[in-house]
Amino acid sequence: MIVDTHVHTRHSADGRDKIIEIVRQAKDRGIGFLCTTDHLDLDLKYGGHAAVPWRHINLDEYKAEWESAKAELGENSGLELRFGIEAGWSKRAEKYLKELLPKYDFDQVINSVHFVLKWDVYFPQAFWFKSKKLVYSTYLKNVLESLDAPYEYDVVAHFGYVTRSAPYKDKSLNYNDYPELFDKILLKVIDKGKALEINTHTTQYPTDEILRRYYELGGRKISFGSDSHRNELAKNYESTCKYLKEIGFTHFSVFRQHVEDLVEIPSFD
Ligand SMILES: [Zn+2]
Ligand SMILES: [Zn+2]
Repeated sequence: MIVDTHVHTRHSADGRDKIIEIVRQAKDRGIGFLCTTDHLDLDLKYGGHAAVPWRHINLDEYKAEWESAKAELGENSGLELRFGIEAGWSKRAEKYLKELLPKYDFDQVINSVHFVLKWDVYFPQAFWFKSKKLVYSTYLKNVLESLDAPYEYDVVAHFGYVTRSAPYKDKSLNYNDYPELFDKILLKVIDKGKALEINTHTTQYPTDEILRRYYELGGRKISFGSDSHRNELAKNYESTCKYLKEIGFTHFSVFRQHVEDLVEIPSFD
């Protein structure tokens, strides 16, 4: 079965498609389990910076449109549609997320770190006048702290994302630069029973060495996220499945009302 549990709709400022359109795309792509996860980046309300004006999600509108898409999809369609959110963690935002998230019956909450030193690292401005060491080490400390978020979450998203827009000549974030921090994070993910996401939106997150270290430390829970914003559902699914099986992973984690279910990673031979 094809699963994709990190997908943006037009309710994200950087998303595009109506939920029903995404449902149609998912059926065309042969997806059996889909969870929409729009952005909830409250840090931008409480001191965080983006380089462009940010349209915040209206959770009531998101929920209403999701419910009507679910109703239109009907039963026995072969596609299971689930309701999720990508909660952008920050120390400032966590108390607001704690209040807000339980008001919506999300099947899955993705815990993401987008903010480092007050800036969304999607934007090059986040790196201006800062050393790679400062930004990267702060990112890792933020990820570690985010794992203790005071609200229910299921998935740890795109670990390593800080490198995406980094301007450094060598922008890689290597295990050997911060082995203790990496191990603390990975062990905490395992300890807390969370699923580590493999994100295929741009370059793969986490990188190969981090994913293998996770497995080596005992990590087995993995979720698949295309992080699609524009009809890129299940991007690189076949090659990613093959790759994960080579490492030793056998199942993807999916969530219904925060309860984990395991879906066998398929073979495409
Ligand atoms: Zn994200
Ligand atoms: Zn995302």
